[in-house]
Amino acid sequence: MDDIRFEDVSLTFPNGTRALSGVSLTVRRGEFVSLVGPSGCGKSTLLRLAAGFERPTSGAVRTGGEALGYVFQDATLLPWRTVLRNVELPGQLSGAGPAERRERAMDAIRRVGLDGFEKHRPAQLSGGMRMRVSIARALTLQPKLFLFDEPFGALDEMTRERLNEEVGALFVSDPFAGLFVTHSVPESVFMSTRVVVLSGRPGRIVADIEVPFGYPRPPELRYSPEFAAVAARVSEALRSVEHEQGAESEHENPGTADDEEAAA
Ligand code: ADP
Repeated sequence: MDDIRFEDVSLTFPNGTRALSGVSLTVRRGEFVSLVGPSGCGKSTLLRLAAGFERPTSGAVRTGGEALGYVFQDATLLPWRTVLRNVELPGQLSGAGPAERRERAMDAIRRVGLDGFEKHRPAQLSGGMRMRVSIARALTLQPKLFLFDEPFGALDEMTRERLNEEVGALFVSDPFAGLFVTHSVPESVFMSTRVVVLSGRPGRIVADIEVPFGYPRPPELRYSPEFAAVAARVSEALRSVEHEQGAESEHENPGTADDEEAAA
């Protein structure tokens, strides 16, 4: 069964911004698909469609209705709550009993390597640790479809690479269908079974690149010629759409871009 399927999806917002055009994409459990493309090409919109927060103007978005995990660029933690109480939140909202939600939260905290930090508050943690809390909170829902909206973009490179490896380990231990938005080509290749490259707005798929490495992936993989070859294909596809976008923007109505920014 497909965990998420976009069928010829187009989306135009009420203000006239055409975000996506004719996107068809299927992600099954055990697949980890990164989305890369120029800023504003509709990557986050695709995740919101997958989560059911938006509806397509035409086409269809089908999911099996499985448990959903959603991690954002900002860890979005409640600053007055401890790590444990933050991670317990989804259980609390879904009405799980105290013992069950505690057990699920403790298990998730262990899986992201934060045992011992249960009583800390977000302000006492580094950016990478806050992101681990955010991932742990999503893990308590045992997601079968896991959406990541550029979660590591604000972290330093070392932390980001470590988190890439950790999310890879989570994926191996309990495979989900992953959709991961990133601006980093190496990150997209390191994480994924496939990298999907979108054109400038309205986003359409211009390349769907298979990543032929098994998991777990050792950190040294990033320095291998095979890795560089896949990253080069992704970069090349990205460069072609950025070039195209540059050419298009010369003909754009200058009022439109401003309106869209104001609405964003
Ligand atoms: P990306 O994640 O690729 O940077 P987004 O999916 O966030 O892009 O946005 C795609 C385009 O749609 C952008 O131009 C953005 O300004 C616009 N947009 C996003 N949400 C809305 C909205 N609710 N109304 C109007 N325009 C929007």
